[in-house]
Amino acid sequence: MQEPNWLQELIDHLHTKHASHYEGEIATYIPELGKANPDHFGVAVVTADGRVVEAGNSDVCFTIQSISKPLTYGMALEAYGEERVSKHVGVEPSGDAFNSIELEKITNRPFNPMVNAGAITVTAMLYQHYGERTFHEIMSRFSAAAGRQLEFDEEVYRSESRTGHRNRAIAYLLLNFGMVPEHVEAALDIYFKQCSILVNCRDLATIAATLSNLGTNPITKAEVFDIDRVKDMMSIMFTCGMYDYSGQWAYRVGVPAKSGVSGGVMSVVNRQVGIASYSPLLDSKGNSCRGINLCADLAQELGLHVFDCM
Ligand code: GLU
Repeated sequence: MQEPNWLQELIDHLHTKHASHYEGEIATYIPELGKANPDHFGVAVVTADGRVVEAGNSDVCFTIQSISKPLTYGMALEAYGEERVSKHVGVEPSGDAFNSIELEKITNRPFNPMVNAGAITVTAMLYQHYGERTFHEIMSRFSAAAGRQLEFDEEVYRSESRTGHRNRAIAYLLLNFGMVPEHVEAALDIYFKQCSILVNCRDLATIAATLSNLGTNPITKAEVFDIDRVKDMMSIMFTCGMYDYSGQWAYRVGVPAKSGVSGGVMSVVNRQVGIASYSPLLDSKGNSCRGINLCADLAQELGLHVFDCM
């Protein structure tokens, strides 16, 4: 990595470059998300030794949405082990949209834990393990990774719970195939809440830096994720983290990442740095336009692609 002051200049430059771009649309299928401000654009970088660089609206909070998925997947792997989890959810990119009502042929498993079907399965498994404490466990783990006590957005949670018929349909299909236990409504409720956890870019970059630093938060030094599971979490982000753009992302940017429909993108450079951006203007796949372009530029500038020969 370069010196941080050099990095600050680069981040400022890339932020300014992309701030003037207004392509993309704000997600409205969860009505409350439609209230996001298209001007908001923040970036944060946290190095694996705990240095922080930020630009723009890096302290504006937004709901974590699908960026919660690799984190709960890691928790399920810790609770059950890989063999047991893999009976319920696969690790294969689906090539379909995140909310597709599609399961693997023969096994009836969701394709991977990054699509809604897989993430709902993972949350149902966590509910079976932790019972009523599940959301508290998720919140404490995310907070430890972010290095501060996080909260969730009641309005977004209610909005999604009221309108999340498609996720309910997915959950009942999973129940039909025995992929999740009986208590689907409780699992869905926790899933909606986990998606509504509020983070800012600094939080997300710290979570990413925690993964980058082998599961230990580089600022607080808290051991948050089991070192053996960080590899699994990053692998699934690398192959499936950017919706049905994941192949192109791996090709173009080449680092494990996860995006969410509120406009966050979290990227991890193994043992080097965590990167987060927020801009609610999304492309047709559901990825933040500014987030993708900024991270692609940053990867190019710093040679972050996992197969880079710089
Ligand atoms: N809560 C959202 C849903 O389940 C998450 C979607 C996303 O960020 O991809 O539809």
